[in-house]
Parts: sequence; C-alpha cells; structure tokens
Amino acid sequence: MMKHLPTFFALSGKTALVVGGTAAAAQRARTLLAAGARVTVMAPELDVAFDDLQRLGAIAWQARWPGGEEFEGVALGFVASGDGVRDAETAALARAARVPVNVTDRPDLSDFIMPAIVDRGDVVIGVSTGGGAPVLARLVRARIERALPARLSELGAFAARFRDSVRALVSDVGVRRRFWERVLDGTIGQHVLAGRAQAANEAMLVALNRSGNSAPQQAGSVAIVGAGPGDPDLLTLRALHALQGADVVLYDELAGRDVLGYARRDAELIYVGKQKAHHSKSQDEINALMVAHARAGKQVVRLKGGDPFIFGRGGEEIAHLRQHGIDATVVPGITAGLACAAAAGIPLTHRDHASAVTFVTGHLKNGEPAADWDALVKSGQTIVVYMGVSAATTVRDRLLAAGLARTTPVAIVENGSRPDQKVSTGTLGGLAAVAARHAGGGPSLMIIGAVAALADAAAEPAWAEAS
Ligand code: SAH
Repeated sequence: MMKHLPTFFALSGKTALVVGGTAAAAQRARTLLAAGARVTVMAPELDVAFDDLQRLGAIAWQARWPGGEEFEGVALGFVASGDGVRDAETAALARAARVPVNVTDRPDLSDFIMPAIVDRGDVVIGVSTGGGAPVLARLVRARIERALPARLSELGAFAARFRDSVRALVSDVGVRRRFWERVLDGTIGQHVLAGRAQAANEAMLVALNRSGNSAPQQAGSVAIVGAGPGDPDLLTLRALHALQGADVVLYDELAGRDVLGYARRDAELIYVGKQKAHHSKSQDEINALMVAHARAGKQVVRLKGGDPFIFGRGGEEIAHLRQHGIDATVVPGITAGLACAAAAGIPLTHRDHASAVTFVTGHLKNGEPAADWDALVKSGQTIVVYMGVSAATTVRDRLLAAGLARTTPVAIVENGSRPDQKVSTGTLGGLAAVAARHAGGGPSLMIIGAVAALADAAAEPAWAEAS
C-alpha cells in the first residue's frame, strides 16, 4: 500500500504560507515560487538563505509568528520553524483552519509530504519514500536525472504543441494513445531528443496526415549506433537512449556483450558477426536486414564497436539506407583508439612528443597496408593502427623503411576498456615480438610514437628487440 497519494497541486496564483525563517523554509519558499504560488513567510527573523528572495521582492514577509487567522484563504501551509514545539503548535493552527500542512522532517505532523523533485519543463517527477528516507529519495532523483534525456522538456513541449491537432484528427481514444506512444517512443521522439526540431516537425506532420482513425502505419528507422570499445560506461547517453528504444538490435562481437544488456528487455537481438562454424553475415545481408526491419515499422539499432564512422563501414550502411528511403541516423561512439589510449595512460598528442595523431588501418589490401607511411613518419605524429596486429611485421618494415627509428616506443592494447584488457609495450624494432603476445587474442590496436613510452607503469614491457 502507498503511504501517500502522489498528486500534483495547482498552486498558480494561490497563496502558500511558510512558517519559519530557517534555510529549510527558504528552500520551501523557492519550490513554491517555482510552482507559481504567492508566498507569504512568517517568522521574526529570516536566515540569510532568504536574502535574494527578499531582494527580488519575491516573498511577502511578516516578522512574527502566526496566531491562527493567518491561515485564512491559504491553499497550502509549510512549517519549518526550527523548533519542534512551535512546529507542532503551528501545524495544529493550520489544521484547525482546514489548510493542508507540511512540517519539514515530521511526516507524523504532515497532511502531505514533499517529494524530491525532477523538473524538466512540463515533465515533473516527484520521488517519495513515504517521508522515511529523504536522502534515499534524493539519490533516486539523481539517478532519474541521469537517465532522462536532456531534452525531455522539449519533448513535453512538442507533445503539448500538437495535442489539439492530434485530438481533432484522431478521435478514438485508444487509437490516439497508440499514436502518441509511437510518436514519443519512435523516430519522432528521437528527433526531438536529439535536437532535430525541424525533422521532428516534418515527420509529425506526415504522421498526422496519415493518421485518421485507421491504424496509422508507423515508419521504421535505423540508428547506426557507436557502442564504444566494450565497457558500457563508455556508451554515450544518446546511444543508451537509442538502445532502450529499439525494437531490433543488430550486433557483432565488437559491440561488447555487456553493452547489449542495456537494450530493452523485449528487443529482438540479432547477431550479425562472425561465427566459428558459420560464415559471418555479409554486408549485403546486414544491409538487407536493416531495410526489411525498418520497412516493417521497427526501430532498428545497428550497434557498431567504437564509432560507426571510424573503420566501421558506417558510411556504406548509411548510404544504403538512404538509397532505400529509410530514415537513418548516426550516433557517434568512443572509438577504440581513444579508449585504448586512455586505458593505457597514453596521451595521443603531447606538447613535448607529438602534435598530431593519425588512425590508420593495418588491414592488408593485396598484402599491403594502405597507408602513406612516408608522410606519417615525416610529420612525426602518433600512429594508431587498427586491425593491424597480425600485420605487425609488415607495418614494422614499412615504418623502418620510411625512416622511423628502431627505438621508437610502441604499445599494444588488447580488449581495451574491457575486464580482460592487456597492454604491452616495446620498441618498433621489437614490434613483432610484442605483437606475438597478442596473436589470437581479443581486438587489439597498436600505438606507435614517442607518446607510447608514457604508457602506465602497469603495462607489461615486452621488449625482446632481437637485433
Ligand atoms: N569502429 C571501430 C573500429 C572497427 S575496426 C572503432 O571505432 O573502434 C576493428 C578494430 O578496432 C580491431 O581490429 C581493433 O584494432 C580495434 N578495436 C576495437 N575495439 C577494440 C578494443 N576494445 N580494444 C582494442 N582494439 C579494439
């Protein structure tokens, strides 16, 4: 059973009486003002916390304790006098005048209690622990604050703006509710939350035109979402919200398993990565899957390790979706190069060592990594090689040929940001030996350049420079 009934009280233009000059009373006065109340404060003296309220003329102050008649015509009473006996007496006065009263920290004397409040424009959330654990209520509030999209108030305002039109066009209550669910939980809501006001308006007009009382066909969409390097803590809030709103999630091993735990419980999870016994799904198959699910009206998330636009084929996927008229967006992610550098304590640029950094792929095309090694070496920058550990010998030879010193520091980070992260360090001359330690392991990348010498001491050195 609930100890209290959560309601939202319309206070605009009504009078609230705050009895007490304490800092707690000042806080009550502020909350009441935020809710549009006219606030009278009664107490012989006021804490400094009232200073700005007084300066702004926001409150009416009577420098005495109430006798009882002051509760006449008052909508709500609040008591925080700092004196237990006075608190109880004042609460009795309010009750005698039939004014609902709240006494700070005394649920036993209160007709109603004040929740911890999350205030995002039209969206207001109150958290109560029945008056028993205000600190816990505040902790819950902090979690809610973190979980809510920053633009939630925009979404509230957006819905309010279209409320009348929707009601006029969709008269059936049930159909209307489903319409709003699809709008707020679907592509249109995502547009608003991501700050794409114009796209949201356009999509809303399309949805309204299609609506009527026949079940409206909701357009699906695809979000190509960067999942970061594997640690769910490194997801962006937008990625989290996309995951929580997805009907279908396409993932592979680079988008760490832990990240999948953040998808909606009833979302359909489809593995599209490599499997030992089976062929991995080809890019064409993945493209076709995304299009098919979006056409079926689903919110699809294509989860990609790191960032979709860094060696992630995100560019091809988005082009394919747009060609097929599918509404597609990209959510950036923390790319492995940044995450691994942070995890290993390697600053990719450094005033003393490197003024630029380049991400290259060590993936061999016709037996050759497709990078301009000469230019990289000449400019003295940090080189981060993705997908290159198996080609470490070739990369070493090309860099030596381009004039990079054998003594240049290197680091290899395997499973960066994951619980089984492994870092080893060495020099370019010994790169093959360092790489051998990571052969057949998890995803790994190489960081080559003077900054690699700054890798955390915890990293295991694996010099083994043969020559
Ligand atoms: N889009 C991804 C990169 C995909 S290419 C991104 O932005 O991170 C795949 C390569 O990324 C792997 O071969 C490896 O070099 C690197 N990689 C991805 N995740 C990694 C991790 N957790 N630790 C180390 N390297 C990783």
